[in-house]
Amino acid sequence: MEKIIQLSERQEKIVEIVKRNEPITSEAIANKLNLTRATLRPDLAILTMSGILDARPKVGYFHTGKTNLTFISDKIKEIKVDEVKSVPVVTDESTSIYDAIVLMFLEDVGSIYVTNNGFLSGVVSRKDFLKSALGGMDLTKMPIGMIMTRMPNIVVIDVEDSLLNAAIRLIDHEIDSLPVVEEVGQEEKNYKVIGRITKTTITRLFVELGRND
Ligand code: ADP
Repeated sequence: MEKIIQLSERQEKIVEIVKRNEPITSEAIANKLNLTRATLRPDLAILTMSGILDARPKVGYFHTGKTNLTFISDKIKEIKVDEVKSVPVVTDESTSIYDAIVLMFLEDVGSIYVTNNGFLSGVVSRKDFLKSALGGMDLTKMPIGMIMTRMPNIVVIDVEDSLLNAAIRLIDHEIDSLPVVEEVGQEEKNYKVIGRITKTTITRLFVELGRND
């Protein structure tokens, strides 16, 4: 895992030189490599931006001990659920299974969050609907409250939490989405649904981080 981002051969050499000679000026690094300072400038910029080297004015370059991978994981941990959440599709417990299926198609989502008196009470997903279709019930009469996964078994993520924690929950619980919530009330804990995080949220971010253009 150490080498997810490959440094160029020259960048590796620079890191080695700095490790052995820190603090060292860019001029001294250039001399050791028989290159000009101008040639080295982009490499040094990359190495300092990625946190592997630290530059102190008038002193020179230091090795921080951070690998480029620690840099990536630090960056990932900084991403908050609030920054990347999408709009949730929410309906009341009394909605019929039939209407909820239509809503799922119209909104093009895989899960719908269900509320009772405005607070999160359940989740229905594609599999729940398929199960209800096998059951042979009248889908226009039966409310989704009958087939949804219910509180307190709903896995949620707080809006202030990190996206990394959300991704860990998606994997650990083998589900496709998490309601993003704000906790209200003191004694009786209630959740207001203010967003959703899905596997697509994570995939999109992965592409953004990897594409780098
Ligand atoms: P799909 O039905 O498309 O496979 P999921 O894997 O997300 O979608 O759902 C599988 C089961 O887990 C369903 O019964 C659904 O109600 C339930 N479920 C989905 N999301 C959650 C969640 N955040 N917390 C608890 N249960 C959930």
